[in-house]
Parts: sequence; structure tokens; C-alpha cells
Amino acid sequence: MNKKTIDNLNLNGKKVLLRVDFNVPIKNGVIQSDKRITAALPTIKKVIDEGGKTILLSHLGRVASSDDKEKNDLAPVAIDLEKKLGKKVLFVPNTRGKELEESISKMNNGDVLMIQNTRYEDLNNKAESKNDPELGKYWASLGDVFINDAFGTAHRAHASNVGIASNINESAIGYLIQKEIEMLSRGLDNPSHPFVAIVGGAKVSDKISVIENLLNKADKILIGGGMSYTFLKAQGYEIGDSLLEKDYIDLAKKFLNESNGKLILPLDHAISSGYKDNPREITEGINVPKNYMGLDLGDKSIELYKNALEGAKTVVWNGPMGVAEFENFKQGTVAVATAIANQENVFSVIGGGDSAAAAIDLGFEDKFTHISTGGGASLQYMEGKPLPGIEAINNK
Ligand code: AMP
Repeated sequence: MNKKTIDNLNLNGKKVLLRVDFNVPIKNGVIQSDKRITAALPTIKKVIDEGGKTILLSHLGRVASSDDKEKNDLAPVAIDLEKKLGKKVLFVPNTRGKELEESISKMNNGDVLMIQNTRYEDLNNKAESKNDPELGKYWASLGDVFINDAFGTAHRAHASNVGIASNINESAIGYLIQKEIEMLSRGLDNPSHPFVAIVGGAKVSDKISVIENLLNKADKILIGGGMSYTFLKAQGYEIGDSLLEKDYIDLAKKFLNESNGKLILPLDHAISSGYKDNPREITEGINVPKNYMGLDLGDKSIELYKNALEGAKTVVWNGPMGVAEFENFKQGTVAVATAIANQENVFSVIGGGDSAAAAIDLGFEDKFTHISTGGGASLQYMEGKPLPGIEAINNK
């Protein structure tokens, strides 16, 4: 890791701007899951223990109207955090101004303050999400050092991450981002072989760069979900009404030609007459009949994918193997998750999103080496592209 981490900074007496991910589900002012708050505690406690003055910034939802403002008020999070820390968290209901500045100037070492939802600033010409230079500069002026620990937004250049980092002398990443990068980089940049990647989900177009990047790194790539049908069409199979991206057939052919047999595609499918949770019917072979859609791996494909995973030393997975939201079409995703979970001596990483949700639903949270907390950010890492929210942090 070439970036400074929280452990490389002297925080004593410093005003520490700490970007966290408190984007938690809230209904009628009640927090539905406090996982993200709990996950941020080690970094917050470290700043407190070192005698820093913690100034927390986070976004919550999207803010495009005054209705959104009311729904996405961060105040309930401050109350919950106060309970978890067992100490006062001073909530400032604004994102800028006199009250905020005066409250910060009165902070003692070890105090914790939380700024209102950074996306309230989006009502002001999208100042947060478009990284308005004046806003990043202003927030940076409120602190001495900046720590970014919000992995979920690390693939975006916003004022509350890149904007602050570019306008402050000292910056570092917190424990959550440090762990994400260590895990993803061990899986992708320094994998033990055999390295089996699993790429699923709806569209080829969303995962092109991931497949391209993995073709250089993985020994096998198991393709599942809606995207497999564009590959099968490229090979000349009948795909019925299954998802197809016509404009990507040529690219799929190119990948197949260049993959040296690394790309593995389904041998059969669970099908349905339309996008409905009908009883599971399995095709005889690779072709999908007319008026049917392939919605999941069939039994032979499940066996093929389980066998391909056997003996893997590294597994990286992004995207479900079928429409896992449907009771009758989640078997492929469940089988793959179970195969990885039951394997010993494998370094396994799930890159956020639907596949992470499926593994967690199955109770496999502890059976994977790492389940990323950031869908978009981990996807961008899997594409081999830099994450602006981390790039902007000081190097060691
Ligand atoms: P992604 O966000 O790209 O990982 O895609 C996840 C979405 O892909 C989920 O909502 C799935 O329902 C959908 N999906 C997976 N397999 C299929 C399929 N065979 N046909 C249609 N949609 C699918």
C-alpha cells in the first residue's frame, strides 16, 4: 500500500476531517441497519484515542429537493453513534456557516462533531457530487488533516473526498479503506494460482472492463447471469428471449477468441416463459427454446462451475449467476456461493452488490475472506482503474 494510513499520522490536538460512509437505510427517522456505523468505529475511536478532534462528514441518500433533505437528515445517525461511542457527538445541522465554524473552534481534544449530510450541498448546483472547487476548499479549511474512510464513494470524485484531499496538506486513508484495498489487491494484483474469477449480472456492457482486466490475470473466468447470453449468441447458439446486447456480440467474439479457453459459459439453463418467477424448467443443452428466457444456470452448468472452482487458491466474484431475486432462479448463485464457502485454503473476495447480498443472506458472511462493502468502488478496482477518492490521498 503506497498511501498514508491513519497510523502514519500524528493526530494529537489536530482537527481531523474524517469522511465516513454513514449512508444507512433510514425509515421515518429510524435506522434500519447500523452496520456501516459499527464498521466506522475503529477509525473514529483511533482519532479519539490519539487526542484528535473528530469532524465527521458523510453523505446520506440523494438530495435533489427539500423533501429529500427531510428524508436524508443525518441527525438520527449522530444519536446512534453517540450511544455506540458512549460519548457526546455534537451534531451541526448545516454543511457550512457560522454555527459550524464556531462549534469546531470550541472543540477539545477527543471531542466528536458531525456535519449534516454532505449532499445537502447538491441543492446548490450539485456542489458536493460535482466536486465544486470552492466547497472542497471550504471544508478543507475547517480541519488540519483529512482521513478518507468511505470506500463506497471512493470511485467518485466528490467535494467531501477528492475536494478536501486536494486542498489540505496532510491526508490518509482509514482502517476500512485500508482493509478493502489490501484484500482487493491481494485477490487481483497478487493472486495465488489457480485463480478463478466469476463474473455475472445483467449486462456485458457493465462488465466489459472487468472481463478484459481479468483475462490477463485469472486462469478461468466463469460467466453467468444475463450477460452469458450475448456470449452464447456470439458462438451461434439459440438464446430465445434471453437478455441480449446486440452491439456487444462482436466484442464477445473477440473475448472468446483471445481467451485461450479461459472463459467458461453455461451448458444448460433454468428457463421461464418471460421474466417471471415460474417453476424452474431446465433446458436439455445450450440452446434456449423460442419464447423462453434463460434466467439461471441449469444443473449441468452448476456442476461445471462447482468443478471449475475446486482447488482454486484465489476466487474473485462479482455479479449473480441468475435472477437471484426470484425464488426459482437463485440456485446457480446459491450453488456458487456454497461451493466457495465450503472450500478450504482459498482466498475469496466478493466485490459488493448483489453477489455480496446473496452470500450474506445465506449466512456465509464469515466464510469468505472478504466481502467488499462498496459495489461500484470494488467493480472499478476490478476493472483495474484507479479510485479517485484514494488516488487523492498522500503517498507514504
Ligand atoms: P449486476 O448489477 O450487473 O450485478 O446485475 C444484477 C442483476 O442482474 C440482478 O438484478 C439480476 O436479476 C440480473 N440478472 C442476472 N441474471 C439474469 C438473467 N439471466 N436475465 C435477466 N437478468 C438477470
